[in-house]
Amino acid sequence: MKCPCGSEKEYLKCCGVYHSGKEVAPTAEALMRSRYSAFAKNQMAYLRDTTDPQTLDLIDEEANQEWAERAQFLKLEIVKAEEKGTKGTVEFKAFYTVDDEEYIHHEVSTFRKQAGQWFFKSGKIKAEKK
Ligand SMILES: [Zn+2]
Repeated sequence: MKCPCGSEKEYLKCCGVYHSGKEVAPTAEALMRSRYSAFAKNQMAYLRDTTDPQTLDLIDEEANQEWAERAQFLKLEIVKAEEKGTKGTVEFKAFYTVDDEEYIHHEVSTFRKQAGQWFFKSGKIKAEKK
């Protein structure tokens, strides 16, 4: 099975490596891709584990899970990815459908590296409707 993140690689050799905990995502972009794949594959534990503990309190996990279950994830497009030391920024568009309606989730996410591991810190939505 091809990885949902659009890498054209096999899932088990792509984001699956991070989901299973064998390796940690080496870059902010890799983490972003693996988090998108986690939504697509309903790996909510992975999403929690890769979220900055300080951010975790602000996230509605139940709503996230419900959304992940309802949505069909079509593709991920990385618009821009930057890293500076322990800070990373990834702008992306996630294409998905809910009840046959197509949506684009356009977000700029910030990431933080701590003890060699990247964490999702916050996201700023740019536009949600197609
Ligand atoms: Zn992948």
